Amino acid sequence: MLSSFLPHPPKWSERQYKAIASLTEEFTLSTAALEELTVEFIKQMNDGLAPPTSKSRKDLAMIPTYVFGRPDGHERGSYLALDLGGTNLRVCLITLKGNHELESHQKAFKVSEYLQHADVSQLMDFIAVSIKQFINTQHINAKIVEHSTNSDTLELGFTFSFPVTQTAIDAGRLLRWTKGFNCPGAVGNDIVQLLQAALDRNSVNVHVAALVNDTVGTLLAHSYKNPNTFIGAIFGTGTNGAYVEDTKNIQALPCSQEQEMIINIEWGNFDKEKTILPVTIYDNKLDRESINPGVHVFEKMISGMYLGEITRNILLHLIDQRLLFDGTSSPKLNKAWSFETEYMSKMELDSSATLIPIAQILEQRLDVQINTQVDREIVKHVCKLVGTRAARLSAVATAAVIRQGLQSGRLRDHGFPLKLNAQDEVSETLTANGLSDGNVTDHVINVGIDGSVYEHYPNFEKHMKSALTEILGSRTGDIVSLGIARDGSGVGAALAALIATKNTAAE
Ligand code: ADP
Ligand code: MG
Repeated sequence: MLSSFLPHPPKWSERQYKAIASLTEEFTLSTAALEELTVEFIKQMNDGLAPPTSKSRKDLAMIPTYVFGRPDGHERGSYLALDLGGTNLRVCLITLKGNHELESHQKAFKVSEYLQHADVSQLMDFIAVSIKQFINTQHINAKIVEHSTNSDTLELGFTFSFPVTQTAIDAGRLLRWTKGFNCPGAVGNDIVQLLQAALDRNSVNVHVAALVNDTVGTLLAHSYKNPNTFIGAIFGTGTNGAYVEDTKNIQALPCSQEQEMIINIEWGNFDKEKTILPVTIYDNKLDRESINPGVHVFEKMISGMYLGEITRNILLHLIDQRLLFDGTSSPKLNKAWSFETEYMSKMELDSSATLIPIAQILEQRLDVQINTQVDREIVKHVCKLVGTRAARLSAVATAAVIRQGLQSGRLRDHGFPLKLNAQDEVSETLTANGLSDGNVTDHVINVGIDGSVYEHYPNFEKHMKSALTEILGSRTGDIVSLGIARDGSGVGAALAALIATKNTAAE
C-alpha cells in the first residue's frame, strides 16, 4: 500500500523517506491480512465457547452473562443503576417510557482513597448510604413515586467494572481488584451479596437485581433505542465487546430453555500469544513495559491508553537514527506514557500548510522546542499509521463477531448479503429476502459503540467502516450500522435489572 504514501515529499531526505516507507509497510494491514485475522478471531471465539481441554487456548474468555434477551424499546418503569469503576460512584434513576425514550437523573459520589483500601463492608456501606441519600432527594423521590410499580422495592442494576466470574445475572465473585482498589474481604466473594447485605444493614429498600459489565450495558442501552442491536463495543481507555449468542453454542452453560444470551467476549485479549497479530518492535516494547505484559496484546494495539505510547516509541526510534528533531529528544518525550492519544487526534486534525498546531503540541506539551516542518510532517504521518491500524483492527473484531452470528449464531437464516469468506461473491441485486422487502430494521445489524477513541479520533469511524466493507463485502454499508451508545453503565444496567426481574417473575 505504499502507493498511498508516495510520491516522495519534497524536503524529506532519502533516509527519512526510506524509514517512513518501511514503517508504513509495517503498519499497513492489507485486505488479505484483515481476512486472515478475522478467520482467526472467529476460531478463538469458538475455542472460548468450547468446554476447556488440556490443549485448548482460551485467549478469548467468552464469559456468559446470564442476560437472556434484549430490550426492544417498549420497556417501562423506573430502575436504579449504579456504576463503580474508578474514583467516582455514579447513582442513576432511569425511567423507561416505553417508546424508545427515557429520562435519566444521576449523582456522582467521590470514592475516597481511604475507602479504596478500607474493608469491603465499609465500601459497601458507603455505597448504600449514597444510594439512600440519592433516592431521598426531593425531586428523585417524586419521580420514584410518580412511576412506582406495585412493589415498593426499587430494583437496581450494578455496573461493576472489575473482573468477576458470574454464575447468574445477580451473582458474581470478584477475581481481583484493579485500578488502585484493594479492599480486603472482597476477592472470592459475591459482590451482589456484599452490596445487598449493606443495603439491608442500612435500611435501604433496594434490591440488587443484576450485575453487568460495561460492554453488556452498552449493548442493552443501544438496543432500547435501536432494536436488532447485535454487538456492544467499547473503544475507550481499553477495548472490549459483547454480542448475542445462540445458547446452543455456549457449551459451558448447563442446558437452557432460552434461545439467546449475551456473551462478554473480553476481546482485548485476542491472540495474546501473538501468533497472527502483526505486532511490531514498538508494540513489543510497550507490552514488556506495561503493568500486564503478555496479555491484552490486541487491546494494546487499539485503545486510548496505549496508542500514544506506541507513537512515542516510534518517534524515539526515529530520533535515535537522527531522522527526527535532528536527533534530539526532550526529558518529557523520554518519559513513558507522556504522549497522550489525544495529541494524536489533534495532530491528525491539523491540515494547515505549516503544521503550526503540531508544533505547539510538540513545544508546549512535550518540550520539543526545535522542530522543522519536515519533522512535523513525519510526526503526523506516524500518528496516522498508528491510528489507522487501530481502526482497522477494531473492524476485524466487529466483522468476526458478525460472521460468527451469520455462520452459526443468532443472525443465521436472515439472508444478509455479506461475505462469509474471502471467496464469497456478494450479490449486488437484492433478492426477495433483501432490503426492499418488508421491515427495513429487520435487515440492519446494529452495533452500539462507546468510547472516546471511536467518538473523537479523526477518521477512526471512516477507517473502521472501510475495513468492514473490505471484509464483509460491498453491501456492508447498507446492512451494518455503527452508532454511538453513550450510557451503557446507567441505562444499560437499568435495563439489565428490568430483564432480571422479568425473568424472575416468569419463573
Ligand atoms: P473510559 O474508556 O475510561 O470509559 P473514554 O471512553 O473517555 O473513557 O476513553 C478514554 C480514553 O480515550 C483515554 O485513554 C484517552 O487517551 C482517550 N481519548 C480521550 N480523548 C481523546 C481524543 N480526542 N482522541 C483520541 N483519544 C482520546
Ligand atoms: Mg466508558
